[in-house]
Amino acid sequence: MEQPADYTSENFADRIRVFYDELKSALQAESISTAAADRLMYSFDGSKQQGQAEVVVTPATQDEAVSTVGLAGKHGIPLYARGSGSGLTGGAVPTERGVVLNLTRLNRIVEVDTGNLTATVESGVVCGDLDREVAKHGLFYPPSPGSADYSTLGGNIMENAGGMRAYKYGVTRDYMLAMKCVLPSGEVFTTGSHAVKNVTGYDIARLMVGSEGTLAVMLEATLRLIPMPVEIGTVLALFSLDEDALAAAQDIVAAPLMPRAMEFMNDETLRCLRNYRDLPQLKPEANAALLLEADGPSEDDVREQLAKMMDVCKARSPLSVETAFDETERAALWDVRDSVSPAAFHLGDYKISEDISVPRNKCLEFVRGLKEIVKDYPDAPVVYGHIGDGTLHVTFMFNGQDDPRIPTVEKLVGQMFKLAVSLKGSLSAEHGIGLTKRKYLAIELSPVEIRLMKDLKRAFDPTGILNPGKIFPL
Ligand SMILES: Cc1cc2nc3c(=O)[nH]c(=O)nc-3n(C[C@H](O)[C@H](O)[C@H](O)COP(=O)(O)OP(=O)(O)OC[C@H]3O[C@@H](n4cnc5c(N)ncnc54)[C@H](O)[C@@H]3O)c2cc1C
Repeated sequence: MEQPADYTSENFADRIRVFYDELKSALQAESISTAAADRLMYSFDGSKQQGQAEVVVTPATQDEAVSTVGLAGKHGIPLYARGSGSGLTGGAVPTERGVVLNLTRLNRIVEVDTGNLTATVESGVVCGDLDREVAKHGLFYPPSPGSADYSTLGGNIMENAGGMRAYKYGVTRDYMLAMKCVLPSGEVFTTGSHAVKNVTGYDIARLMVGSEGTLAVMLEATLRLIPMPVEIGTVLALFSLDEDALAAAQDIVAAPLMPRAMEFMNDETLRCLRNYRDLPQLKPEANAALLLEADGPSEDDVREQLAKMMDVCKARSPLSVETAFDETERAALWDVRDSVSPAAFHLGDYKISEDISVPRNKCLEFVRGLKEIVKDYPDAPVVYGHIGDGTLHVTFMFNGQDDPRIPTVEKLVGQMFKLAVSLKGSLSAEHGIGLTKRKYLAIELSPVEIRLMKDLKRAFDPTGILNPGKIFPL
């Protein structure tokens, strides 16, 4: 039987003192902080879960990051790697006394290799900065999440982030070629290769993707790029029934058509958008929306793709279908989707927002089942998401973290996860398990899978100092 480590003992307090002294000898003074303001600043993430570390290290160089991880390993100090802290499941939250390794200063785009269509980046590069840099070369890094303007590639990789374009272009894992990491032993290793094809041994680089900072700390990654699509067109289709919008989305997949984005918003989402701000694109009688986008080599090609998608939508009796090619008009249609997150916060200041996924032809069945699960709960959830790849964000809003409705909703969430898994889907499409979903892990994973995952964790991190308490139930 595994015993959880005791991080409260006197012996641990001594170890952390020695760790801190050795850290001060190894790093520049400005890379280390024990100031209350810094410890608070790095105590939470986008989930609003909170902990507090003893020390915050913001390495200026990869060597400083390597020294910090090696010293934490040597003294058995919990270490929490961190990008921008925009994660939504508590992945970067320091739950035990230990060290936060804030990697945002490792932000060099090392190389954009236009001959090989790859980019090599340090962990702390903000995803949107890479998007803009590769665009200068006519290249495209498709997995960009909604948080691209502030989240780091290290965080994106460790959560296997997926954005609006995952249906056509895939998620972060699909662009991973090679990685440079450091283990708690202090050993630095590179894994994967810069070649597109590679079957030499186990694929450790992709195993690292989605590992939530529990296996090793990533220093650098080499990512695949593709040519930038030339033309883009957008469609907003409004429906009076959410079932019609969901059926239209499934028809588009089955056609088969390949939008680069296909976003769904339910009746509650549209209601909260209307209460939030004036969005003239949203007709008052609409109760569901699909936002579709196609890209291609020419405007004719994109128009043809969109015409086919609109024909499919029209067979499901939409209230209206609006098309935009011009950048400003497209942005006006996207404004609806982009406003969902801030609009939801007008319903409360704390949210439980899940990111289940189901096979693309099961979205309608999932939403019907969800309605059954929440039928006796008075505040219907805001449901929206990347329907093209079967991702649905089911969002409940509360007044604070001690809102009395939370225990009830947690039970409903458990039932919802069981429903998603029974349809051969997943608890988490893109946000990871972290702290918030660890208690539900066994709904999806068998005891054998959990054992194999823990064995892998031990191989990388034998003393369990990397992000303790994440993914696996305590
Ligand atoms: C408004 C909003 C929109 C969002 N939209 C999307 C979306 O469309 N798609 C999506 O997938 N997510 C989305 N997210 C969630 C979040 O932005 C992503 O999970 C993102 O990948 C986190 O990046 P970060 O730099 O903030 O990482 P953090 O939150 O700092 O860390 C995330 C995890 O990565 C680990 N980690 C970070 N860097 C390293 C490293 N170098 N080595 C080892 N472990 C490391 C941390 O320990 C933690 O477990 C959204 C969040 C917000 C707030």
